[in-house]
Parts: sequence; C-alpha cells; structure tokens
Amino acid sequence: MSRIAVSSSIKLAVRGDRPDTIVKVGNVDVGGNILAVIAGPCSVESGPQLIETARSVKESGAHMLRGGAFKPRTLPYSFQGLGVEGLKLLAEARAETGLPVVTEVLAIEDVELVERYADVLQIGARNMQNYPLLRRVGEAHKPVLLKRGLSATIEEWLGSAEYILNGGNWNVILCERGIRTFEPLTRFTLDLSAVPLVKHISHLPIIVDPSHGTGHSSLVPAMSKAAVASGADGLLMEVHPDPAKALSDGAQSLNLDAFRTLMRDLKPVAEAVGRRL
Ligand code: PEP
Ligand code: MN
Repeated sequence: MSRIAVSSSIKLAVRGDRPDTIVKVGNVDVGGNILAVIAGPCSVESGPQLIETARSVKESGAHMLRGGAFKPRTLPYSFQGLGVEGLKLLAEARAETGLPVVTEVLAIEDVELVERYADVLQIGARNMQNYPLLRRVGEAHKPVLLKRGLSATIEEWLGSAEYILNGGNWNVILCERGIRTFEPLTRFTLDLSAVPLVKHISHLPIIVDPSHGTGHSSLVPAMSKAAVASGADGLLMEVHPDPAKALSDGAQSLNLDAFRTLMRDLKPVAEAVGRRL
C-alpha cells in the first residue's frame, strides 16, 4: 500500500500507535462496532416540531438527536435559531426520549451555556478554523463534533482537531459534510474518500453528513449507504416532520417516513461491512 502522510507537526490527531478512539456520549459509543446515527432538524423551531421529530427518529433507531439553536446563516435576515429557548427544548426532548443531544456552538462566549444543555458540542464547517473557539472547546467537558470546513483540506481539518486534543479534550468526532467544488447541482461535493483516508491516518472516529453534503433529500439515502460502506462510524442527518415548511435546510431534510425507511435499508449495508446499526 502506498504511504499517505500528513505533516509531522500534527502529533495528537494522527494514529501513531494509538487504538481507535471511541467517544462515549451517554450510552452511545461513537467509533465502535455499532454505528452512531444522529438525526433531527437543521434548526429547533418549536417544542412540537422537535418532540415529534425526536420521538419518531428514536423509534426508527436513531442514537442521538440533533438540532441547531444557534445557527450560522449566510445572511443576517434568515432565521438565526431560537438560542437558549432552543437549548431548553433540546433538553426537554432528551428528558423524554433519552436521546443525547448534539447542537452547534457558534461563539466562545456561548460555550459554557451550550455545554450546560448539550451532550455534544458541534463546531460547524464555517468555524472549523476559528482557532480561539477550538481552543475553548478543547477545555470543555463535553465531546466535540468537528465538521470539515467548506474548503478545508484533510490536513487542515486534522490540524483543527489537534487544537481541541491539545487543550485536553480527547473526545473529538470528525464529520465529513461536503466541500466546495465546481459542481453546482449538488450543494457541496461529499468527499467519501475522506472516510478511509482519515481512518488510515487518524485514531479519531469519523461520521458523515449526507444532508449538507448533497443539499437534496433525494440523494441522502444513497449517500448514507455509501458512507456506511466506506467505513464511516456513523451518520448525521437532517430530519423534519414537514420539510417543505422547515425554517432552514428543508430541501435536504428527510421526512419522518423517509428516515424510517432509510434506517431499515442501512442494516444490510452495515452488516456487509461488519458493523451494526
Ligand atoms: C448544520 O449542521 O445544520 C450546519 C450548519 O452544518 P455545517 O456547519 O456543516 O454547514
Ligand atoms: Mn442545516
């Protein structure tokens, strides 16, 4: 096999002699034999929207609930999220369903607050190179889900993980969510070769987000199966009870039925690569 090398200055995120890191989130292991599926709306919009989604994705077999309370939007006029109110709704949904919750933290000054409510702190693609924020979550006591930047190389992505590990937080989950290419028909280009590559050079678990990676709900099932086949440790997917009415990312969100069907269809793919759902 040809050798793929990253900068020797990356010390903690590279595999070295380390065994695979398994990130524990409540009862859920990310990076073990069982795949971790994180599902939920792009944005927390209301109590009924979130709880309906949480109950349904749990019944379909999801392991964690996602939902943005602080949203990174391209324009200041778009829905910016419910903020603290959204965090409280996530905590309520967790209390009812038992699903750990994953939510984005946008700013250093919010880390303490988000940490109080969330089980996993998401660092979004747009903040992958926000080094002060990376340092801050490196001191946090919750696992971090680090999305790949829109135009970040794999080495830059691992460099960002290095900041968090260097701060003492070894519970880092990488998430491939698509990168910018010349292709306009998909929102981003989902780089699935990153999955076996990251597994080769790093001990960190890596999951795939086929929702942002494609921008189209119709492409999500096939790319989810491909992600599992490529060796991903899990999936992060946007699911909404009524995608047409979603306040953000409706076009890429699965409805509750489509998510249920996908979870069923993923089982044989997982088994084919020696994993379980
Ligand atoms: C999200 O998960 O809703 C999100 C904003 O993702 P990304 O940072 O990958 O664009
Ligand atoms: Mn989204």
